Amino acid sequence: MSEARGMDTGYSTGRANLYRDRSSALMTSTEISRLSCPNCKKILRDPRQVTVCGCRFCAGCIDQRPAQGCSAESVYTCAVDGAKYKRRDVRKDRGCQREIEFLEVDCPTQPRPCLWRGKLTDMEHHVSEECPKRLRECDLKCGGKYLAEELEQHMARDCHRRPVPCQYCKQQLPMKDLQDHYMGCDRLLECAPTANKLEVKN
Ligand SMILES: [Zn+2]
Ligand SMILES: [Zn+2]
Ligand SMILES: [Zn+2]
Ligand SMILES: [Zn+2]
Ligand SMILES: [Zn+2]
Repeated sequence: MSEARGMDTGYSTGRANLYRDRSSALMTSTEISRLSCPNCKKILRDPRQVTVCGCRFCAGCIDQRPAQGCSAESVYTCAVDGAKYKRRDVRKDRGCQREIEFLEVDCPTQPRPCLWRGKLTDMEHHVSEECPKRLRECDLKCGGKYLAEELEQHMARDCHRRPVPCQYCKQQLPMKDLQDHYMGCDRLLECAPTANKLEVKN
């Protein structure tokens, strides 16, 4: 682990467009993980690099608590590989920040991505809030999960919990409860053919 991290210095080679690698999804996900924080697992925010081991963290994620005391000589421990470092061994990683700002990625949604292409910094929002290919739970709580782009149709036409009106009393009921409702619907009894009432009388 530590050796691999120490070798990882190839990021500052200028701008890179991840979509050039779209033939290889694996490459793209490798790139993404390279620019992710090992602590919060998200894309680095205000990246800091520990120069002694090469690890990068968000400014808010890097360990700022020394083992004891707190001075320029305080010793910190890298959470990834245990490397010891001092405050002066941490630098603001502008190259990495620039790379993150310029990078563009294709939609990473699995198993089927959408046609979205955008900034890496917008990717998390796209995947969790916007992507039409993301899975969403049915709002009517039927327990099903559907592609976001198909959910509306599911809820309007297919979901067994979609609200439908009883054709007799006009009350709105979940589709699955309609048959049971007919058994006790007052209006349905009133509307029933008189033959039924005669039978009851007999
Ligand atoms: Zn972080
Ligand atoms: Zn490290
Ligand atoms: Zn998408
Ligand atoms: Zn449903
Ligand atoms: Zn009814």
